[in-house]
Amino acid sequence: MLEVKGHPVPQSHYINGNWIEGHDSYSVFSPIDGAVLGEMPAGTKSNVQAAVTSAASAFPAWAALGAEGRLPILKRFAEEIGQRADALCEVESADAGILLSRLQHGIIPRSMLNITWFAEAAITLQDQIIETPQAKHFVRHDPAGVCAIITPWNAPLMLTTWKMGPALASGNTCIIKPPEWAPLSSALLMEAADAAGLPPGVLNMVHGEGRPTGSYLISDPQLARISFTGSVSTAREIAVEAARNLVPCSLELGGKSPFIVLEDADLDLAARTGALMYRNATQVCLAGTRFLVHEKIRSEFGERMAKYVASLKVGNPQLPDTEVGPLIHPRQLAKVEAFTQRAIEAGAEVLWGGERHEAGDLYFQPTMLSNVSQDAEIVQEEVFGPVLVMQTFASNEEAIALANDTVYGLGGVCFGEETHAQALSNQINTGFIWINSFGIRDLAAPFGGCKHSGIGREGGKWSFEFFCDVKDVIVPKRTFVPSFAQR
Ligand code: NAD
Repeated sequence: MLEVKGHPVPQSHYINGNWIEGHDSYSVFSPIDGAVLGEMPAGTKSNVQAAVTSAASAFPAWAALGAEGRLPILKRFAEEIGQRADALCEVESADAGILLSRLQHGIIPRSMLNITWFAEAAITLQDQIIETPQAKHFVRHDPAGVCAIITPWNAPLMLTTWKMGPALASGNTCIIKPPEWAPLSSALLMEAADAAGLPPGVLNMVHGEGRPTGSYLISDPQLARISFTGSVSTAREIAVEAARNLVPCSLELGGKSPFIVLEDADLDLAARTGALMYRNATQVCLAGTRFLVHEKIRSEFGERMAKYVASLKVGNPQLPDTEVGPLIHPRQLAKVEAFTQRAIEAGAEVLWGGERHEAGDLYFQPTMLSNVSQDAEIVQEEVFGPVLVMQTFASNEEAIALANDTVYGLGGVCFGEETHAQALSNQINTGFIWINSFGIRDLAAPFGGCKHSGIGREGGKWSFEFFCDVKDVIVPKRTFVPSFAQR
């Protein structure tokens, strides 16, 4: 076991209810100060095969329990997560650099709800009956089978529970492949599942890097579903592998979301919300990263936002007043710096930031670049770090055209008089858009992106549709003799 602030974390895979040690390993670092947290096992092909086989063996009994039978077990699972809240928060913050305060107040309750909400919602799943004069159609949602769950490092606890909640609640069994740069909270989740009495094999975890461990997993022919959150390039590889075995995939990918400020916006609220885009050092898929501001209010908005950004506390995410933490990895820092440098060389003006932050080796200043052309790399590509761009527009039509001119289509933010903002937002090609707000989420609502931001939606009935095979059982109302002439 490695230890983070006195909290032990298993350094093993979790397969069929057993902790399995690996032979090869890789080092895990804390982005806060670069300290080595420990070694984690690198999953081999036989580890992955064992995990998939155990999930396949556990599937029939778990599915047969029904949603009512699974509910108490999953509720206990959520309680066990709650009982480990301190450990999960300290470990995830050290491992992924996420604000401790956000973990304590936002991510832990949400992770518990990710399990209980879907466990309860699954009970009403079988209620749908379509009645016609001829027959009753009982629409069943049968669990699909063995599901692979692959998540990125920017929100491991939240994203893993967001996927495993509906998968398990609807009767599937799972293999988790945690993100290699932040794998530790997943190990604690397996401990919680074990303590809650999840039957062996229902939930399995194999650590390791995307290649080779993740590749072994996605190519396994026994999989029924692949639920993936991560980058577009990995999604392409997954989609190709999944196509070989015709496995449905849910793909939640990157974004370059517009943050639109209309002439009639509450500028102070928009500016204050704008500064929030630097949360988690903008390693947040749904952050608005392209500011599109009406030319008449551009300078006033810029001044107000600069004031809020200047007051942001950048530093150790475990201190209670910190608002912006580190980047996850030296490679991520190098990527962010290179993006910034290339943009400046191409003529971008630095409105604020632009350099590394003195808080430590992996910290970068909240940055805003302007004077950028629409086809510039910094406008078109996801940085996944605290470097945003600001452009202006003169009309609604221009705002819509600029907002839609990207391969991404994840989310958006629009500030303005409500009817105006809503009418304009209806023409933005994204999976969701916040009007005069940011970050309001509900488990019943759909989440996901258009274009290169993904395929499919998660949340509520959309998660269940993905993790289930929908079947129509047709029962005629009176004796029915089929004929060749029938439609
Ligand atoms: P990534 O694609 O590099 O890795 C994501 C996961 O995929 C990791 O667990 C990794 O080990 C695994 N992986 C990598 N190659 C694989 C392969 N060949 N086969 C199987 N698994 C493989 O992404 P990342 O850098 O960890 O995450 C950042 C990206 O995630 C950003 O683009 C961000 O926008 C996106 N993201 C999207 C959402 C969303 O909900 N849309 C949420 C969070 C992050």
